[in-house]
Amino acid sequence: MSDCIFCKIIKGDIPSTNVYKDEHVTAFRDINPVAPTHILIVPNKHIDSVDVMIVDDEPLIGHLFTVAKELAAKEGIAEGGYRLVVNTGAESGQTVFHVHLHLLGGRQMRAMG
Ligand code: AMP
Repeated sequence: MSDCIFCKIIKGDIPSTNVYKDEHVTAFRDINPVAPTHILIVPNKHIDSVDVMIVDDEPLIGHLFTVAKELAAKEGIAEGGYRLVVNTGAESGQTVFHVHLHLLGGRQMRAMG
């Protein structure tokens, strides 16, 4: 998607602080972190949101979680615990319409709401 900011980051057209990359996934630090660790884990394939995922995307989405777990260990937040968030749709707070998993940790989280 030519006008998608995360597609541009994945292609390297926009600078980002990458922490992981493979054939399927790119992970980089959120530009506006809300926790000491705030990483976005993004499929290299453009998918607008979870709401338009198809069954064939299941291995890819599962891979996002495996990468999140590995990054949590690398960041030193696995033991204390971390939060994984996928906003889906405008009312959820999704602002970038390219599926992404937020990895948040390094501080005590409050209840969701
Ligand atoms: P969401 O609100 O769930 O769609 O999350 C989008 C996230 O992308 C927000 O936390 C933004 O701070 C983050 N973001 C937007 N633009 C960039 C960028 N150029 N580099 C890194 N993170 C970004």
